Amino acid sequence: MASFQPKPESGYYTVADWLELHCLEVPVAREWLSRVGDFASAAECRNSSQVLPSAEEIWSLASEALVEILPEISDDIEFIRDICERDWDAPAGAVPYTLDRAEHHTPLVSMCYQRTPEDALCVAHEFGHAVQYHLARECFISPILREVAAFAAEKALIDFTHRERPDLYASLNAAWESDSGVIFGRDVETLYEALKDPTKSYAYRMNYPLARLLADEIFNASDFDDLGKIYRGGPSLPVLLSAMKDRTGAAIEGNYLPQVPDADASNAAMNSYQSLGMMALLDIDYLEGEPEKNIGEYYALRVAHMHEQTAFVAIGNEDKPIGYANWEVDKIDVRLIRLTRLSAPFGDEIEVREKLLARLPENANLLTCDGQEKQVTW
Ligand SMILES: [Zn+2]
Repeated sequence: MASFQPKPESGYYTVADWLELHCLEVPVAREWLSRVGDFASAAECRNSSQVLPSAEEIWSLASEALVEILPEISDDIEFIRDICERDWDAPAGAVPYTLDRAEHHTPLVSMCYQRTPEDALCVAHEFGHAVQYHLARECFISPILREVAAFAAEKALIDFTHRERPDLYASLNAAWESDSGVIFGRDVETLYEALKDPTKSYAYRMNYPLARLLADEIFNASDFDDLGKIYRGGPSLPVLLSAMKDRTGAAIEGNYLPQVPDADASNAAMNSYQSLGMMALLDIDYLEGEPEKNIGEYYALRVAHMHEQTAFVAIGNEDKPIGYANWEVDKIDVRLIRLTRLSAPFGDEIEVREKLLARLPENANLLTCDGQEKQVTW
């Protein structure tokens, strides 16, 4: 289990230290925690009486499961499977752990294995820690990303048994759901409280909710590129969170707008109505500020931009509108194009910008809109 050493001056780490260590801001943490409802499970009780295979067999299955989703690091996974020292006979009640031992070149796993489903998941959990310790031994890994690696190894084992060992699947999955019930229940409540007062002391379980969410997101998307990077020591938590947010945001929202009909050259008024309608559709549900405006004001502003030819609706690959821009041309220097609005509700802002730049004069200098506008549309 990963942890950082107590601070000499105060004797303990605070929630603020933990946030700083992860470059995590309170609103970002809260926003992620608000997703818990999507994953929270009612399962709280564990009553499986199934006796599971030996720890060594589970260890081996955990490695097969991880190789299956991360074939690019299969050599390292199998190296840890074979070489990592493990002790399955720790005293009952001892906290399971994986110890990074630079001097031995491989980690040590220790736990008391009693053939329960929880124990089996714990074997996979420690296997995940050991693989990451081995692969990222030169890097500092923050505790949340340590736990993502461990939870992902558990989840990989569960998914693997679903296909390869159905005799084990139900009990392992029930144990996972039960753990999730605690993490997304009690641990989330504790973390919410901690975020209210970052001077409070840090507790290791604070790492679990976000790590569990990230592991769930990775497996729900079946996209293991980021997971491979996490085992190798990259990317930082903020980079990972933002990449995942973009991906899941796009996946959840999708572009539900209809395809754009072909323009009718003989009916300019109809084309204008279409453009105006697309801008309104792109704004609905996504903007604080614009749709709430008086409809006359909203309409007048866009019609004015269309008259001045300072409005542009970008059409994506599926012939659907993906975003639009309004801008002002500087009165003194016409090369200066000041964006007054860029709306790209489905995460296509880069493409909208590129399409806009392609239609502006070549020497145009596109200036970003002010901070408030950015916040609304990016
Ligand atoms: Zn752990």
